[in-house]
Amino acid sequence: MLTDIVSSEITTRHDAVHGHTIIVGAGPAGLAVGACLKQAGISCIILEQTDKVGAAWHRHYDRLHLHTAKAFSELPLVHFPKDYPRYPSRLQAIQYLEAYARQFQLAPRFGQQVISARFANNLWQVQTQDNRYEAANLVVAAGYNREPHLPGWPGQTDFQGTIMHSSQYQNGEPFKNQKVLVVGFGNSGGEIAIDLWEHGAQPSLAVRSPVNVIPRELLGIPILAIGVAQRKLPPRWADALNAPILRVVMGDLTRYGLRKLPHGPVTQIRGDTRIPLIDVGTIKLIKRGQVAVYPGIERFTEDSVIFMDGKRGKFDAVILATGYRPRVNTFLEGASTVCDENGTPLSSGHEMPIPGLYFCGYYVSPTGMLREIALEAQQISAAIARKRAGAADT
Ligand SMILES: Cc1cc2nc3c(=O)[nH]c(=O)nc-3n(C[C@H](O)[C@H](O)[C@H](O)COP(=O)(O)OP(=O)(O)OC[C@H]3O[C@@H](n4cnc5c(N)ncnc54)[C@H](O)[C@@H]3O)c2cc1C
Repeated sequence: MLTDIVSSEITTRHDAVHGHTIIVGAGPAGLAVGACLKQAGISCIILEQTDKVGAAWHRHYDRLHLHTAKAFSELPLVHFPKDYPRYPSRLQAIQYLEAYARQFQLAPRFGQQVISARFANNLWQVQTQDNRYEAANLVVAAGYNREPHLPGWPGQTDFQGTIMHSSQYQNGEPFKNQKVLVVGFGNSGGEIAIDLWEHGAQPSLAVRSPVNVIPRELLGIPILAIGVAQRKLPPRWADALNAPILRVVMGDLTRYGLRKLPHGPVTQIRGDTRIPLIDVGTIKLIKRGQVAVYPGIERFTEDSVIFMDGKRGKFDAVILATGYRPRVNTFLEGASTVCDENGTPLSSGHEMPIPGLYFCGYYVSPTGMLREIALEAQQISAAIARKRAGAADT
């Protein structure tokens, strides 16, 4: 049986657990690579620091639904169930990931936080808090959204209200009747503002930089389907093609305090590796005056925030939807040759210049990260299988 072959390849040598490939992380990317390797009959050890698969999805806020249609969010070899809606809920996404892990008998080693990984003597030496592992290949699938990014402002410690990162936000219940400032207008910030409104809070958004806003669907077609159809076009051409219809659908958002980027959404993703806001209803609330828009923050006082334009707003709470950083350099030795200064891998989906090293899930794609993860997982497992076949021939 396939599983017997695979498990017999995992042995203990010199106090280290030895496998063919080690995968860091049991999120969508780690599971997808694990499943593809298993299909190819290659053993892998998945190390996961928490006690569950898809841990990030367990932590996300309650209201979250995939903003990418399910047809563009599937991992390799397994469709989302037919009875799921086009945009599955957070809980449905978790169920899908759990069923996926079960189907391929992936059995990650839970509670194993990788604290260092280094390539020495032609093997990857991986240390968790209580075990040593070694393997020919290391797939880092620890998540683009690994560590909350927490910028600081003058006076922040004087502020008497609550300040939390969006990763700690569950729902708007505790904020009923409160004035809440959401800092950052990415997909999380936009949806949290809606959630706050729905829970009877008075939300405002602090938007420091110009943005591109796109609808989740255009004329009933998921925006990603359009992205996929246009993926071979140069970004500027794709943006020029989309601009007139986006103008009609979204209207002139500068009237509401939102500045537009000089380039379109496709150029933004490929150039800045930042995702435009996929609007799931925030713009309607802004247009109705139910969500106020402020520019970037200059400083905090005890009860207020002073903005870059000199305006002041009193708030009970501030939610920092200020994004995340991958910071793989906190555990990957030699990361400076394959990552930028934030520990963001320079590329994803193929073997890096350090032998046997692969990153999965680090390309911010205009066609959605889950879709990209599925493609990368297949590429990575095929590359590992080719290498193994080559080694067996020699
Ligand atoms: C709020 C939100 C909504 C999103 N919605 C969508 C969407 O609708 N469509 C889409 O395509 N993309 C979406 N994304 C982007 C992306 O697809 C998801 O973040 C997805 O979960 C990424 O999968 P991943 O496996 O790369 O990372 P993660 O899901 O973050 O999984 C990484 C795993 O690695 C583990 N880990 C990290 N460090 C270590 C370590 N040192 N040792 C051991 N384990 C470790 C973590 O515990 C985690 O379980 C969303 C992102 C966010 C934040």
